Amino acid sequence: MTRAATTGPGGDETLRAAVVEGCRWLVGNGLVVGTAGNVSARRDAEHFFVSPTGTPYHALRPEDVALVDLDGRWRGGRRPSSEWRIHRDLYRARPEIGAVVHTHSREATALACTGRGIPAFHYQVAAAGGADVRCAPYRPFGTQALSEAALVALAGRRACLLANHGVLCVGADLDAALGLAAEIEDLAAKYRIALGLGRIEILDAAQMREVLDRFATYGRQDGADPDLVHAADPSDGSPEEPR
Ligand code: 13P
Ligand code: ZN
Repeated sequence: MTRAATTGPGGDETLRAAVVEGCRWLVGNGLVVGTAGNVSARRDAEHFFVSPTGTPYHALRPEDVALVDLDGRWRGGRRPSSEWRIHRDLYRARPEIGAVVHTHSREATALACTGRGIPAFHYQVAAAGGADVRCAPYRPFGTQALSEAALVALAGRRACLLANHGVLCVGADLDAALGLAAEIEDLAAKYRIALGLGRIEILDAAQMREVLDRFATYGRQDGADPDLVHAADPSDGSPEEPR
C-alpha cells in the first residue's frame, strides 16, 4: 500500500488529513487492528493533532482529528486519544519530534509481552537511534505513569516497546515515524525467528557505534565514498551529476 508524502508546506487541513492517512496506512499494512493505536503530528511549539479515541480508522474523517495544546486543552469533533499524555509529553520534552505513532503491531507486541526489548541482533536496530530498542515496564494504558515510563525507555531513541501493550515510535515527521513503526515490527519478527534458530551473535557496542556513524550519511546523495566515482555518460542520457 502506498502513501503520499506528508511532508512539505501545508496548513491545519493538510495535517489533519495526514493524520487520517497515516492511520489508514497502519491498518493497510497490518500494523493496527481495530482501534489499537494512535497517531499524532506536531502543529507548532504548543499544539499537536492527534487521532480520536476509540474510533475505527476506516470511519475516521479529518474533522475528527483533535487539536490539543501542551496543557491538555483540546478542540475538534471527537475527544483525543486516551494516550494523549504520551504524545503531549514527547512534544514537550523533545523539540526535534514532529510525529508520534503508537501501535499494538503483532510481532513487536508479542515480544513486549515477554518484557524484552530488541537487542543488537541485527545492525538495522540502529534505525531507532541507538544500540537497542528498550522495553518500558508495564503501566496501565492512558496513564501519566505509562507516559513517564515510555519517555525513559525512549531516551536517546526513536522507538521503544511498551511491556504487555505495544510499540511507540517518533520521528521528525509522519513519514519517518510511520516507516519506523513498520521497521520495528519487521525487526521483532526477525528477532523471534533468530531466537528460534538458536544462539544469536549480538553485535557489541563498538560494532553498533560504527553502524550509527555509517547511518549518519546512509542514503544521502552527497555521501562521500572515495572508492566510488560517478561516471557521467551524456550519450545514454545520464546526468553529469547525480541528483
Ligand atoms: P485510543 O483509541 O484512545 O487512541 O487508544 C488506543 C490505544 O492503543 C490505547 O493504548
Ligand atoms: Zn495502546
